[in-house]
Formats: sequence, structure tokens, C-alpha cells
Amino acid sequence: MADVENVIIIGSGPAGYTAALYTARANLNPLVIEGFLWGGLLQQTTDVENYPGFPDGIMGPEMMQKFRDQAERFGARFITDNATRLEPGNPHTVWVEDEAYQARTVILAMGAEHKKLGVPGEEELGGRGVSYCATCDAAFYKDRATIIVGGGDSAMEEAIFLAKFSSKVVIVHRRDEFRASKIMLERARATENIEFLTPYTVEEFLAGDSGLLDRARLKNTETGEAREVPMAGAFIAIGHEPQSAIVQGIVDTDADGYVVTEGKSTRTNVPGVFGAGDLCDHTYRQAITAAGSGCQAALDAEWYLRDTPAVPTPPSLEGTGDLAEAQWAPATGQ
Ligand code: NAP
Repeated sequence: MADVENVIIIGSGPAGYTAALYTARANLNPLVIEGFLWGGLLQQTTDVENYPGFPDGIMGPEMMQKFRDQAERFGARFITDNATRLEPGNPHTVWVEDEAYQARTVILAMGAEHKKLGVPGEEELGGRGVSYCATCDAAFYKDRATIIVGGGDSAMEEAIFLAKFSSKVVIVHRRDEFRASKIMLERARATENIEFLTPYTVEEFLAGDSGLLDRARLKNTETGEAREVPMAGAFIAIGHEPQSAIVQGIVDTDADGYVVTEGKSTRTNVPGVFGAGDLCDHTYRQAITAAGSGCQAALDAEWYLRDTPAVPTPPSLEGTGDLAEAQWAPATGQ
């Protein structure tokens, strides 16, 4: 078994990479298990216009590359794979399949994933017309009719991007009021080939003879009226779900699966385990708030390492191999 790390960061995105930057600059030599698809949801975004310091905006993937490069410059190390299990202890063990990594502190920054509608046809037609990422798939629908499901900023952003390709984009939302910010809603309304259909929900996605998405059955949430709308592509933008599966039952989570942190800190209920970013936040969910909480988690981990002595080796393990040595390995930079 390798030496015990000072800090393992699970997940990337603004929270994970900021935690990596700060812990690297604190000489803690962080190991980031960044996920197979590193960079988080910003990898699927186009222009980021609300992150201070980029007056002309920046593309999401380019921004994540810069975050990663900056952390690497100060010594952060990366494993581009998914963590599969957290075993709390002193030290904690993080598993990547059957590979174990030990650390005195762990920062959880696994973020959130796209929420599913859970209607018939959605799963079956995934990749055959149903998508969760206009940035990734919009070009497949050049001059064809598409819909966006949702009424938040994501739905507006996706619709505006999609409208550059599709002949027509219909935003289908379950209420007449929108959660989206005024500026995003106005931009969508001002886009010539975007239409709005409210208050409707999607009841089912249906395939044509080709096996590809061909139409959706919608229902008016007030009158119950049902109608079928033809479309080549449907993009679901109804929010996100925290990626907390690997820590369920290990750290406290709320009813929606978000990791619970203590007060204004990033401390979870497990000593030495911290939470940051969208994994813990169902309110703000912004790149900048995620980055801010990544910084807080790094400082909380640094202070924990400073104030908590490494666990003494039990007499039965003394001198019996890697684990005993690992538990005594001094944390660098303190
Ligand atoms: P959101 O604000 O939570 O909006 C989700 C939308 O999906 C809501 O309109 C909701 O309807 C609808 N919805 C949820 N579950 C549904 C279901 N089962 N069936 C049908 N509709 C459903 O999520 P978001 O749009 O992803 O935005 C998340 C955060 O990121 C927000 O703070 C947002 O401001 C931010 N964001 C910012 C930008 C930007 O500034 N460029 C871009 C994207 C996101 P109800 O309203 O009826 O609940």
C-alpha cells in the first residue's frame, strides 16, 4: 500500500480543482481522483459569462482546463478515474475499483448530474433523440425541430444554444411562471425560433419507424388536455442530482441526497471528511460558489491536519508492514 496521503479530493469541477489548488499551495501534495469524465458539468457548457475575471466570457471546458492546469502547477496529482467507495477510518480509505488509497483527510467534490424526467421512452431513446446536453448534441439537429424541457436558467441557456442549429425550439415547462433569471428568460423570448409551451409536462417519448425519437405526448397540467408534438430531438434541463452514491450511509446526506455540512464550515459528520460544491448545495449551484466552497474545504482540511495528530499505530501492527508505516507517515508541509 502506498503512503498515507494528507488529502484526497474526490471529484473535479470548480470545487475539486480549487480545493486541489489551495491544498497544493499549502504543500499538502493533494491527490485528486478527478473522475473518468473530469471537469464536471462545466465541460458540457458553452459560454460562462458570470465568472468574475473573464469580461468576455470563457468556454466551460477551457475554464476547467485552466483550473486543472493551475492546480497541477503547484503539484496536485490526478487519477483520471472514478472513486468507487469511501471507507472512513483513521486514515480514510478511498477505493478506485480494487485499488485502495489512504488519506488523513478527504474532500468530497463529486458534484451533481442531470436529473431525469422518469417517463416512458426517456431511457430507451437516450442517445437516439433524447439528450441532457445541448452543447454536446445540438449539431445533430441542424434544421430540425427540437424541444427543451424545463423552466430554469439551464433550460434557457440550452434553448438559446440549440436555436443556433434547430429550425424551431419549443420550451416545454410545467408552469406558466419560470424559475429562470429575468435576463436569461428575456434572451430566450427574444430569440426568433424559440417558442414556449406551458403549462405542459412530457408524459412519454415515442419513436418512429426508424427507432429514433419522433414525437412526445404532452399533457396540460391545468386542463388535462393531451397532445402529441413532433420533434427530432428532446433536451431535458430540469436540474441536477447530487452524486453522493459512494458516500450514502457513510456521511450524512439530506432527503435529496445532498451531503450535509456543519454550519458555515465544510465539515461533514465524519471527522477529516469535508464536502464542497454542488454535492452539498441545492441553493446556489454556481461555478463561483462551488470554487469558493472548494477553497473553504481546503482550509478546513489544512486546519484539521494541523490540529489532529496522526493516529498511533496499534501495538499489534507495529513494524508489521506497509499499513503500520503508512499510518505513521508524516504529513508533509505542516
Ligand atoms: P433549476 O433552477 O432547479 O430549474 C429546474 C427547472 O426544471 C424548473 O423550472 C423546474 O420546474 C423544472 N423541473 C424540475 N423537475 C421537473 C420535472 N420532474 N418535470 C418537469 N419539470 C421539472 O435548475 P437549473 O436550470 O439547472 O439551474 C440550477 C442553477 O444553476 C440555478 O441557480 C441557475 O441560476 C444556475 N444556472 C445559471 C446559468 C447562467 O447564469 N448562465 C445557466 C444555467 C444554470 P419548477 O420551476 O416548476 O420547479
